[in-house]
Amino acid sequence: MTTEYTNYIDGEWVASESGETFDVTNPANSDEVVSRHPSSTEADVQTAIDAAVAAQDEWGDTPGPSRGAILREAGELLAARKEEATETLVREEGKTRSEAGGEVQRAIDIFYYYAEKCRDLGGTVKSPSGTDKELYTKREPLGTVALITPWNYPIAIPAWKLAPALAAGNSVVLKPASQAPNSARILLEVLDEAGLPDGAANLVTGSGSTIGTPLAESEDIDGLSFTGSTAVGTAVARAASEDLTRVQCEMGGKNPTVVMPSADIEEAADIISVGAFGTTGQSCTATSRAIVHEDVYDEFVDAIVEAAESLSVGPGLDDPGMGPHVSDGELSSTLEYVDIATSEGATLETGGGKPAGDEYEGGYYVEPTVFSDVSNDMRIAQEEVFGPVLAVIPATDFDDALDTANETDYGLSASIITQDLTEADRFVNEIEAGVAKVNEKTTGLELHVPFGGYKDSSTNTYREQGDAGLDFFTSVKTVYRNF
Ligand code: NAD
Repeated sequence: MTTEYTNYIDGEWVASESGETFDVTNPANSDEVVSRHPSSTEADVQTAIDAAVAAQDEWGDTPGPSRGAILREAGELLAARKEEATETLVREEGKTRSEAGGEVQRAIDIFYYYAEKCRDLGGTVKSPSGTDKELYTKREPLGTVALITPWNYPIAIPAWKLAPALAAGNSVVLKPASQAPNSARILLEVLDEAGLPDGAANLVTGSGSTIGTPLAESEDIDGLSFTGSTAVGTAVARAASEDLTRVQCEMGGKNPTVVMPSADIEEAADIISVGAFGTTGQSCTATSRAIVHEDVYDEFVDAIVEAAESLSVGPGLDDPGMGPHVSDGELSSTLEYVDIATSEGATLETGGGKPAGDEYEGGYYVEPTVFSDVSNDMRIAQEEVFGPVLAVIPATDFDDALDTANETDYGLSASIITQDLTEADRFVNEIEAGVAKVNEKTTGLELHVPFGGYKDSSTNTYREQGDAGLDFFTSVKTVYRNF
């Protein structure tokens, strides 16, 4: 029997007024239905928005430390359910048990972090121009905010939007991606159990165009935080800003790692292998371009091919080196890019297909894939593949490598592997990306520092995470008091 879940609106678990549902299946075995969820309508969204608007004053007036206590309790409840949340995440999204466990822990830590931040919410006191006066700023909640999230980090991303939004006193309507809505459901369950007032956070599931669009267009929404593809994010940003709603969209990437001759090439290959093939290449920060100095190019290609071929592929619950794609659509898209790269003249060094064997039949598996002889104008070097496909691009020197790294519409994360301090410094200063790393993979983020992209990776309005997460979800009021 498939477990059927509902929306969470005004503190109640309720079905969609449509009575329609959709199924979530296991990417490792598409015959297995994981769960069933409401195909919500515009009317359901409006009910959720109305509940959030009605709840906002009370939640916003709740003292920060009291809001923080609820977030902390929610974090503790999630920690107690870590194993269950990890398995749920693996079964709906496909990533490995280790990757999923790390992601659930991230969500727990985010709740703890913003629980503490609730105490610090305040402003600054400045010197007024005159005696018997006061001049200071205070932070106020934006109001009611909409959160739209993707499937690839189905618990961490909802958590890194929900926690700062609630910490700052906003009420929330969350719409998670339909491929993996259970992880977000668990977050709402723990918030409910922790004592969040009815209506302060609401969850509505369903198709992006049917329920995402009215959320973006709603005049009752004071802020919209979106993470997903650049194509959808751009449309969402336009729709939301029509009535001057504050918008933040974090979107796609085409992230480079530059490898210079001073690098230890084995180590570079290990770092890039994790960046490119971890989470089956389905991270916005995944390494999709290795830009390698010609002096070490052949050595690097050999090392990265060996690293790719050493990865075991299998069901995420067995905790292999790499799990399946999330869906048939994502698998087909990756295989299409393999054909495109081959037809453009890139050399397929390893992978490029579905792994052979009966055990792979029911799942959306693909091999870790490496292309060499890639030039930066090929589609494989310019478009987000969102699969475990690495394009290895030669560079004649540091300047050529840096130019190649920057020749992209995206600008999310970038790294360099070098022992040369001047190269490291120039890279950090001249790379056009929101995250710059030295001797590290492009993936992996700390939760207490800002995260966001340059260029088409972001609306470049506000950053997420750390203090920046609270900046987006608050308005600054400047107070002049004359006694
Ligand atoms: P997507 O853009 O297809 O969907 C994202 C969310 O938007 C989903 O909830 C979807 O249902 C919803 N949506 C779809 N159409 C909509 C519409 N017309 N109006 C409103 N909402 C709509 O992205 P995805 O496939 O879920 O996720 C993968 C993408 O997300 C990749 O491009 C990846 O790089 C990006 N991503 C970016 C970051 C980041 O922080 N920069 C993090 C993770 C993923």
